[in-house]
Amino acid sequence: METQTQFFRDTWVEIDLDNLFKNVKQIKEHTPKDIAIFAVVKANAYGHGDVQTAMTALEAGVHGLAVAFLDEALSLRRKGIEAPILVLGATRPKDVKLAAEHHISLTVFQEEWLKEAEKYLSASDLLQLHIKCDTGMGRIGVRSIEELKSIERYIENQPIFQFEGLFTHFATADELDTSYLEKQYSIFKEMMASLEKLPKYIHSSNSAAALMHKKTHFNAIRIGIAMYGLSPSMEIKNKLPVQLSQVFSLHSRLVHAKELLAGDKVSYGATYESEETEWIGTLPIGYADGWIRKLQGQEVLVNGKRCPIVGRICMDQCMIKLPEKVATGTKVTLIGRQGDNVISMDEVAAKLETINYEIPCIITNRVPRIYIRNGELIEVSNKLLSSSGLTPR
Ligand SMILES: *Cc1c(COP(=O)(O)O)cnc(C)c1O
Repeated sequence: METQTQFFRDTWVEIDLDNLFKNVKQIKEHTPKDIAIFAVVKANAYGHGDVQTAMTALEAGVHGLAVAFLDEALSLRRKGIEAPILVLGATRPKDVKLAAEHHISLTVFQEEWLKEAEKYLSASDLLQLHIKCDTGMGRIGVRSIEELKSIERYIENQPIFQFEGLFTHFATADELDTSYLEKQYSIFKEMMASLEKLPKYIHSSNSAAALMHKKTHFNAIRIGIAMYGLSPSMEIKNKLPVQLSQVFSLHSRLVHAKELLAGDKVSYGATYESEETEWIGTLPIGYADGWIRKLQGQEVLVNGKRCPIVGRICMDQCMIKLPEKVATGTKVTLIGRQGDNVISMDEVAAKLETINYEIPCIITNRVPRIYIRNGELIEVSNKLLSSSGLTPR
């Protein structure tokens, strides 16, 4: 394996593309055949790696990809991805030419935007558009039938625009109480019914809606979190109709272990004090990697056993309390499995009083990602060195 030559620090994220493939396959099996699945790979695929995730999801049979911003779509095109890509967020009118050139579909929700955008396109261009309806999320989208109809008319009368999709987004699809979702669903149905002509794609489901509420499928779904093997919320975690496996795990190695005597202190502020003779290990990961200071007290796995982080987490390092003397170089798992013991994304999210979505996103680019496919290491992505000439990629 080439790993040693491609990163030089003992902290890494492992992306299990086999689990990703299995998750997509399961979601596919749970979804009627005529429904197009868009894999949501925004934010570098929730920190998992955009192109590797996209390629594996496409291999597993998704129809297309969705991202938040045009830059993310262009990044995928530059890496050779040819599948349909939809930008879910707002794009500046002056950038639409790039989208048209690269066959990237954009989201529209203002007539003014169309009037501005057409100035940047020539007669030979074709810009594919999805109209976003705000049915209760209050983020972006058309809020009235009149607005929707006039945007539809504008698109249909301008040959450089193609009306490709209509969509909305649910605010509470991950909750057991479905009343607000029902409200949004019926508003969306009404908006859809007001159209002169239905576009190719009609979509409203994120992972939670797609898995829990089949009627929200229309003819396309947008799957993010479930593909990464995580539940959209704790509330529906035990109700999901598919068995998901976590894709992202985080590991490090002990770079030092020492015996402290009672009264010895650890880290900034000298806030941790040994009560007795204790083995303290040092890990080369800290808050600059997204392993933030609030994770003090969180447990990690060493030789399959849980060990707490003690003392304040530093920018690049943190300390753990070991049950006994452990050799330097021993693998430490911060998120993931060692033997029968697991530290799940949900556990780390709970410790940080947040949702699992946020955790892989905040593990920064300083931490290399290694990719496993068919049980083998297939790629190391080290953003620090990828443009330095030190690595082949
Ligand atoms: C991020 C996002 C999704 C994916 O949501 P998950 O809960 O991760 O499945 C779908 N649609 C839109 C508009 C989004 O912004």
